[in-house]
Amino acid sequence: MSKRIRKFVKPYLVTNGSKFRLKAFDPDDHGSLKASKDAAASLLEEGVSRLCALQEKLYAQDQWGVLLIFQAMDAAGKDGAIKHVMSGINPQGCQVYSFKAPTSEELDHDFLWRTSKSLPERGRIGIFNRSYYEEALVVRVHPEILAKQKMPTELVTKRIWDERFEDIRSFERYLARQGYVIVKFFLNVSRKEQKARFLERLERPDKNWKFSLADAHERKHWKDYQEAYEDVIRATATKHAPWYVVPADKKWFARLVVAGAIYDALARLGLRYPVVGQDKKKELAAARTELLNEGKAVKKAKRAEERAAGEPAGAEPRPERGAA
Ligand code: ATP
Ligand code: MG
Repeated sequence: MSKRIRKFVKPYLVTNGSKFRLKAFDPDDHGSLKASKDAAASLLEEGVSRLCALQEKLYAQDQWGVLLIFQAMDAAGKDGAIKHVMSGINPQGCQVYSFKAPTSEELDHDFLWRTSKSLPERGRIGIFNRSYYEEALVVRVHPEILAKQKMPTELVTKRIWDERFEDIRSFERYLARQGYVIVKFFLNVSRKEQKARFLERLERPDKNWKFSLADAHERKHWKDYQEAYEDVIRATATKHAPWYVVPADKKWFARLVVAGAIYDALARLGLRYPVVGQDKKKELAAARTELLNEGKAVKKAKRAEERAAGEPAGAEPRPERGAA
């Protein structure tokens, strides 16, 4: 099964960015799967339950940490993918953080500060809905944001993006050496499909709340964003922190790829429930005996009490002589 899942997600996996071309990835791809939406839903359900079983072990073992990063253009389906793929996973073992435009407190620190504070604990899966990658995406597409970042001006040079990539690579290499498994998802939606989803948000009353004029405005920078994403993936796809370029025009397919990729990352760890040593086994056996004898001990004590009093415990006290 693990091998089949690995084969299924492999076409979307980028572990070496040097030759990466975004154009080579079709947003409408759905592999060799001819699945209908319904069939995909049951496949996803099966995948999620397998994932849950691995997550239980991850939590019990409490050594590895997992960081999942989601990046995408608006309406690509980040929220839905996170919701569906992580459904059913023990909430105690999972932490989700969304990163929006930085607050003034966040701007008062280095750019990795806010995400570093939100890294998952060992044994847990941490999800970043957007991340430090925005620092080389939205900030690159809108230089006015960079101008407001309180960086010393002499440090803001033409090399700034390469420097950020280098810092991100070092940071991810450090995390990997600390026992963090990093998987990064770019939900690759097409411009055409984004338009259809925006129109749906405008036309359907139950989706109106999702529409934002700012999102529609960002769409005008589509080409710049595509170039920025290509650069990001080229510079930061590595074996220990790979990118998945997930075809996102079909939501059901995107969710299957995401679930499969997370499953594969966890399966590679060879997770096991912690093995109990001899000392611990003795401790467990003693605790078991104590628990089983609990009732017996209480009864024994009660009988001893009764014998000492010469009468059954709990019996009505005899009335005083002469009492009415
Ligand atoms: P949704 O629209 O589904 O709620 P979202 O992730 O798009 O999800 P928004 O509140 O719409 O959430 O957008 C967050 C915005 O914050 C994005 O436009 C993103 O580019 C921006 N943002 C995130 N990180 C940074 C950053 N470091 N600097 C500037 N802007 C950022
Ligand atoms: Mg948005």
